Amino acid sequence: MSISENILNAKKELPPEVTLLAVSKTKPVEDILEAYHAGQFDFGENRVQELELKYKALPKDIRWHLIGHLQTNKVKFIAPFVHLIHSVDSEKLLYEINKEAVKCNRIISVLLQIYIADEETKFGFSFEEADLILNANPKTKYPNVRIQGFMGMATNTENQNKIREEFNSLKQFLLKNESAIDNSQSAILSMGMSSDWKIAIQEGSTMIRLGSSLFGTR
Ligand SMILES: *Cc1c(COP(=O)(O)O)cnc(C)c1O
Repeated sequence: MSISENILNAKKELPPEVTLLAVSKTKPVEDILEAYHAGQFDFGENRVQELELKYKALPKDIRWHLIGHLQTNKVKFIAPFVHLIHSVDSEKLLYEINKEAVKCNRIISVLLQIYIADEETKFGFSFEEADLILNANPKTKYPNVRIQGFMGMATNTENQNKIREEFNSLKQFLLKNESAIDNSQSAILSMGMSSDWKIAIQEGSTMIRLGSSLFGTR
């Protein structure tokens, strides 16, 4: 099936409260344009340089999301235009995003990436570390950053129950911390990829990040 058919089919299956983020990493701008012309406006990239190049080359009403690990020295390149950073995984990064947001007179929306899998390679805060940040007045400390919710990646496993439990733990964490989240009625829970998005939605995801099921294997 074509990219545009994949986009339309995915959207038909999603409940209205769930946003589809099309993960376009490694894919050419032509593929992104095809998705865009099918009505897709949210795209996710995991590398700053690729994100910047695509931003420059593509229509300006695209909402660009960063979903990969972000180094503090690269925040300045995306601060002027990024729509949502899903992958905040250190306090140092929050500080830097706030600093660059002030410079471009923007409020930058972010998610705290929470480590819910049992794989050692994944970035993210533990629940305890995220608690510390949320309980230390982030709105006052980082006035140009808006913490809108959380992002998590489940373990890459065939065990559906394990995936479900991991997603559920993030949903419970959100419920517990809603008062510390900006606009808690519209808090964002970014969870679910091509292999596990159905479980993620059942467990309360509000944003799924689909790459290969829309654009084909990388
Ligand atoms: C690549 C990537 C995705 C998309 O993965 P698919 O399995 O291709 O859907 C989602 N989230 C993150 C953080 C990624 O890096």
